[in-house]
Amino acid sequence: MRNIFCDMDGVLADLRWAQYAAHLDLPTRFAGMFPDVDVRDPAFEDWLHTPHLWESGPICTTEFWTGIPMYSWAPGLLAALRSQGHVRICSNPGLAVFTHHAAHGKVVWCQHNLRIKNRDIILMADKHLLAKSKDDVLIDDDEVNVASWIYAGGTGILFPQMWNINRIYVPTDLVSWVMEKLS
Ligand SMILES: [Mg+2]
Repeated sequence: MRNIFCDMDGVLADLRWAQYAAHLDLPTRFAGMFPDVDVRDPAFEDWLHTPHLWESGPICTTEFWTGIPMYSWAPGLLAALRSQGHVRICSNPGLAVFTHHAAHGKVVWCQHNLRIKNRDIILMADKHLLAKSKDDVLIDDDEVNVASWIYAGGTGILFPQMWNINRIYVPTDLVSWVMEKLS
């Protein structure tokens, strides 16, 4: 019996889009600081991690976190994963400045969108501590998370996104792609 740990942001939840949509007023609020790049451009990632995006404004509400759109493939991916083992959601509770919004919002998001039991929602940053054997599988869009997981002895699958090295697979059917990696 596999234990499958599925990341939220970047795998099931479109945090990138939500961040961008929540900060459409930034060009005027932070004149000169807003890079002229597409939201899907990997270069946008660095800018997203600048503190001014996280320390104030619309992201610091529970509503922001509960309102993040689900990727179109998320229901199909979850159903497929559930055919392969016990699925738990494993997500980073976030930076200290917004944890009290993000942690609550993420649990509510899972309840609303995934119909998953609370006991199967894990909020932790050091995900690799859960990897005990090859039957423990992590699906995550973060290269460091996946590498740490594999190093700890688990099976790690780097979910293709424009901001990681598997970006070349983004145009493909991602559910089938993950299932192929699992088989
Ligand atoms: Mg992620």
